[in-house]
Amino acid sequence: MMDSDIERVLISREAIARRVEEVARQITGDFNNHTSGQVSGAGAGGTCESPEITLVPILTGSIIFVADLIRRLPIRMQIRLVSVSSYRGAVTRAKQALIREELTMLPQSLTGEHVLVIDDILDSGQTLAMVQRLLRQKNPASLRTCVLLRKRRPEAMNFSVDYVCFDVPDEFVVGYGLDYNDYYRNLPDIVTLRPQVIHAHAPAGPEIQP
Ligand code: 5GP
Ligand code: MG
Repeated sequence: MMDSDIERVLISREAIARRVEEVARQITGDFNNHTSGQVSGAGAGGTCESPEITLVPILTGSIIFVADLIRRLPIRMQIRLVSVSSYRGAVTRAKQALIREELTMLPQSLTGEHVLVIDDILDSGQTLAMVQRLLRQKNPASLRTCVLLRKRRPEAMNFSVDYVCFDVPDEFVVGYGLDYNDYYRNLPDIVTLRPQVIHAHAPAGPEIQP
């Protein structure tokens, strides 16, 4: 049973829903101010289109957050998925982030597009930094970042990000899209796992974690 693996609930599904709604309103307000008077879109060949946004969710952890968030953004949008693997050492927490090209849907150019990158959790900042670097090369009109969670550790707190739903303790969390060895993403709340669960399934060596 998944429930018996939970140590404690950090953020309940109700609190998540309320906060997602708030952040969606903030994103919508900022977007409307930022783009008022502008036209954009791939087919802007003289036609007057409403401003639109290009969402770039980072797979896989952001899927549930993105599903909830986008239904609260009344903005014309396209979604372009990006997949990043963290090659995590067994002992150190040092990770190396790599783009997985085969699961990434970015166009050659993002010229004129207002881009919002979405990730589940800001930890070392490596993942977001790498995705930002990749997107900047594609020349977007603007580039913003949104994370569901930010860990209370210096690397994350000092990393510049536009929208944060919650700050969480520097502990390993799962649920609402976040996994442990690819499990627990379907838990509706954001929780910590009992240490026994983590120790029992700890990977023996370096592993790939999308
Ligand atoms: P960063 O590159 O900022 O160190 O890490 C971001 C990625 O690491 C996240 O997208 C997520 O996949 C993973 N990650 C970091 N901390 C946690 C955590 O506490 N729980 C889970 N499930 N994943 C985490
Ligand atoms: Mg992950």
